[in-house]
Amino acid sequence: MMHEHLLIEFARWRRDAGSLDIPPYDDVRSAGPINLKNRHWISYYGKHPDEYSLDEEDVAIEEAGLFGKAGGGTIVDVTNPDLRRDPQALKRISKATNLHVVMGCGTYVGSMHPPDMDERTSEELANEMVSDMLQGADGTAIRSGIIGEIGTEFPITENEEKSLVAAALAQQNSGAAISIHPGRDSKAPLAVMKHLLSAGADPERVIMGHLDRTLFEEGDFTELADTGCYLEFDLFGQESSYYAHGPIDMPNDATRIDHIIALLAKGFGEKILLSQDICQKTNTTTYGGHGYAHILENVVPMMKRKRIGMQDIDRMLIHNPARILPLVDST
Ligand SMILES: [Zn+2]
Repeated sequence: MMHEHLLIEFARWRRDAGSLDIPPYDDVRSAGPINLKNRHWISYYGKHPDEYSLDEEDVAIEEAGLFGKAGGGTIVDVTNPDLRRDPQALKRISKATNLHVVMGCGTYVGSMHPPDMDERTSEELANEMVSDMLQGADGTAIRSGIIGEIGTEFPITENEEKSLVAAALAQQNSGAAISIHPGRDSKAPLAVMKHLLSAGADPERVIMGHLDRTLFEEGDFTELADTGCYLEFDLFGQESSYYAHGPIDMPNDATRIDHIIALLAKGFGEKILLSQDICQKTNTTTYGGHGYAHILENVVPMMKRKRIGMQDIDRMLIHNPARILPLVDST
């Protein structure tokens, strides 16, 4: 799974500073713990103080364990420091579940950047990522294995542009792949690619994430694929037509597969990656959600029903990740 979060907390720096301004929820379903009576509503609107964090290590171990039981081997956890990355906890989860966990680095979207982001240079941001990958992250000897998820909004802000340039520099000095969270606009992925390419990134080592909620027309997928980047459908299991971040027609899993079938037919099978981006409590089975094993348990059978061959399924779930994840010799 190429884009997941085992533990996460949004807006970490503002939370730490006590300056996170969440307006009070005006519905009784937001009060009290998540239960059977309110979980659908919380999942639909995201309006619960506990929803936007995964903060229970025992739950993460149990949830990741279900993925292992379903045949899964590796979880790429693209949580960066802005999302409260915790290297020691990831190591414990990996050991407890016998799963490979690949850890991320870098910065998320502008509104969640660290307080001193204005003063940081691209070079400093790049050095921090390279050190996370080659020495160890957050004062530990635990190393990151992927750059990202690098967050951007649309239009891309100045600090986000710095972050993209930094990602390209860090790639040149580590050989790692870059995983991108693009803004919610069909023009966002190409805008990100432009910044990355002019800073010297290798397009064949870039993963454009969250395409399920970003691109809707076949032509847009093809235009992006022509840049050489990987196309990631990482919101499998999110099937609600309501999307808290804006008015789009969110695809369901069947529609996602139809986009994938079209891309396979055009010869882009080597560039497709899949995931579920589990990042909210109600995404986990503990809170009544689909969990990390959803693709293996439910999506693969649907792909077979829609006549995607086993060779293509293996490609998307095994061979493409195996090609993009290693740190390649960048000299
Ligand atoms: Zn994510």
